[in-house]
Amino acid sequence: MLNLLFPRLCPACEMVLSQGERDLCTTCRHELPQTNYHLFHPNPVEQLFQGRIALQKATAFLKFQPNNKVQHLLHELKYHGQQSIGTCLGHWFGALLYESHFFGKIDFVIPVPISKQRHRLRGYNQVRKFAEALSLQLRSHCMTELLVKTKDVQSQVTLNANERAKILFNTFSINEDSPVNTNSRILLVDDLITTGATLESCAKTLNNAAYHHLSIAAIAITDNT
Ligand SMILES: [Zn+2]
Repeated sequence: MLNLLFPRLCPACEMVLSQGERDLCTTCRHELPQTNYHLFHPNPVEQLFQGRIALQKATAFLKFQPNNKVQHLLHELKYHGQQSIGTCLGHWFGALLYESHFFGKIDFVIPVPISKQRHRLRGYNQVRKFAEALSLQLRSHCMTELLVKTKDVQSQVTLNANERAKILFNTFSINEDSPVNTNSRILLVDDLITTGATLESCAKTLNNAAYHHLSIAAIAITDNT
C-alpha cells in the first residue's frame, strides 16, 4: 500500500522499482559503467597517482561522465540524503574486490573525512556508508577516528591539480589518540576522483605520521575517454 502512495524510485534513473528490486533497478545494475580497474595492475587510477604518492593498489568502481547515471547517483548521495546508495554500491563493489583479491588483506577502511562544519550542514559524510559496506565485504574495519579534516577549502574550480594539492595539503590532520598502528594496511575511500588532489592530501598526511601501507578505492572516477 505504502509503495502505491509513495513508489520507491531507482536513484539512478528515477523509474519506479518493481517488487524484488532493491536500491537500484535491474536495468541500471546492468548499465552502470563499471571500470573493472580492479582486474588490472597498473590501472589508470594507479597511473594518476604515480609519482605523487606511493600506493599499494588503487581503483574506482564506476566511470563518471557529465549527465550520466553515475553523476546522478553521486548527486543524490551527496545532496539529497540518499545514503542507501553508498551502502548498495559499497556491498556490490566490496564483493567484487574481495573475490578478486585485488587489495589483499586490509586492516582499516578510512573514508575521506569532511569538516565538522560541513558535517553539521549536510548531516552526514557521504562516503561513510560506502566505506562501511566495503569494510564488511573485505572483512576489515571502518575507521573514522584516525584522519580529521581541519578546514574547508573554498572555490577550487579555477585551480589546477598542483595548486589544489598545495592548498589541500595541511587541511587534514591525524588524531593522535587513534588506536591504529602505523603498520596497518589502510584503504582510503572517497566518492569521486577528479584530479586526485583530496586523496593525495590525505595520503601525504598519513605518510607524514608514518602510515605507509596505503591503498585507494573510490566510488567513481571522471572518465575522459
Ligand atoms: Zn534505474
